Amino acid sequence: MTRRLAQQFVVAAFVVALLLAPLASLAPTAATPNSGNFHWARQSSQFTLQVGSNLSGPWQSILNNVVSDWNKNETVTFRVVGGGTNPQECRPNIGRVEVCNWRYGTQEGWLGLTRLYFNAAGDHIESATVQMNDSFFDTASEYNDDAARRHTMCHEIGHTTGLDHVATDSCMNDSQFAVFNNLEPINKDFNQLERIYGHNDSSSTVAGGQKKEKNKKKSGKKNGKKSRRNQGRMTESVTVETTAEGRKVVTFITYAGQ
Ligand SMILES: [Zn+2]
Ligand SMILES: [Zn+2]
Repeated sequence: MTRRLAQQFVVAAFVVALLLAPLASLAPTAATPNSGNFHWARQSSQFTLQVGSNLSGPWQSILNNVVSDWNKNETVTFRVVGGGTNPQECRPNIGRVEVCNWRYGTQEGWLGLTRLYFNAAGDHIESATVQMNDSFFDTASEYNDDAARRHTMCHEIGHTTGLDHVATDSCMNDSQFAVFNNLEPINKDFNQLERIYGHNDSSSTVAGGQKKEKNKKKSGKKNGKKSRRNQGRMTESVTVETTAEGRKVVTFITYAGQ
């Protein structure tokens, strides 16, 4: 879609966010998203992230498969737990990810949507929501397709860790081609996670016990380079908004092509 059209969709999605999200009032912030440095606070470079499943239909088994793909990394262990919200509203819960599916409608044109909610200081993610739009996946649409479902879940779950887009064979690629062909994370994603989480924070924004589940060799200190967006057709927009309380909310929106 054209950039202008995409911007209109962002405005539309923003209106929907006002209706659905528990955010008193949102105002877009001037700053461009500082993606590439989004991460949860934790006191160890390896951590467990709870993923609440508010899923129905084929999505529960897709989530399980996607989580086992991502869990091949050495940094974050996703653990699927019972859902903590209702799928239509998909509200955030502190310290964890909530994953939802619902027929959210086709007007805004999005397939999948991830929101990262930041702490008061604005420097760490403290909760996240992922929404799969069954208005595309569960209707007579080209996206009613196992590959598209698998890609989109993989992609959005990746965003919940703070990962940005890449121009590789990974599911974090946001091209229209990738939606049907890039279904899994790759080692480069895992290396990027190791870089993002290579430092230890003094506090934690992650819920649950944090027993060490992985054997890691060493962790780098420096941040990874900001990944390049794909040239060519974009399927995605990122917005940064601020709540009335001054909380930062970053939204990754995956649009259906066309
Ligand atoms: Zn940190
Ligand atoms: Zn994305």
